[in-house]
Amino acid sequence: MRLLLALIFLVAPLCAAHAVELTGHLTQGGLVTGRTAPGAKVLLGGKPVLVGEDGLFVFGFGRDQAAQAQLTIIHPDGTTEQQDLAIAQRQFDIQRIDNLEQSKVTPDPENLARIKADQEKIDAVRGGEPSQARDFLVPFIWPAEGPVSGVYGSQRILNGEPRAPHYGLDIAAPEGSPVVAPAPGVVRLVAPDFFLTGGTVILDHGFGVQSAFIHMKALAAKVGTHVKQGEVIGHVGKTGRATGPHLHWGMTWRDVRLDPALWLPPQQARN
Ligand SMILES: [Zn+2]
Repeated sequence: MRLLLALIFLVAPLCAAHAVELTGHLTQGGLVTGRTAPGAKVLLGGKPVLVGEDGLFVFGFGRDQAAQAQLTIIHPDGTTEQQDLAIAQRQFDIQRIDNLEQSKVTPDPENLARIKADQEKIDAVRGGEPSQARDFLVPFIWPAEGPVSGVYGSQRILNGEPRAPHYGLDIAAPEGSPVVAPAPGVVRLVAPDFFLTGGTVILDHGFGVQSAFIHMKALAAKVGTHVKQGEVIGHVGKTGRATGPHLHWGMTWRDVRLDPALWLPPQQARN
């Protein structure tokens, strides 16, 4: 924990009376951890957030998060503390990707049904009760070696058609390069051939924080096992909707899509 505090920014000391310390990124796509008294309740925007036995809690903000969010802490003695958090607003690029297989941009009804079934499996994993594992607290490492070829949040124009924003970090690497766990985690999903995401693995780092690795081939992870940081979970491929070999790494807190680049130690950031 001390190492983590040293690596990431202290973003917002809260009111002195109860001194809740927040670390992380109060920005769109950011993940924030905090600590309060054991037994306290924490709500973000009125919704309860898991609080660990020692008072640890975690929450995150999506790409389109408004400029303000409200954090409420109900202390064991019944006193309530409210804090308006200022969430930095980001500018996102527009990214045009051409030469995609048209059936993957405008899928036919049969493939739409497949996409929906795939998404339900992913949603079931993300929607599960969060564990109290603290695997997300270690400084993350890069899951693959290579240049960043796609960033979080960009608005996508696929074969000329506007589509959903890009919720992840793309790392270009030769096909077959190893993909390693950026942090320890329990393997929650292993799917070799989802329609859009191809070879897909989801790791659960605890407190609702998960990583998804997609477009892989030769998956090397087993559902239910706990993998160590740096352990190989698959290999870079171009499976699913991809124009070339790369790893797409998506990070989520509950159903909120985060920017993995923010959670990497700054000294390892590269372009
Ligand atoms: Zn991607």
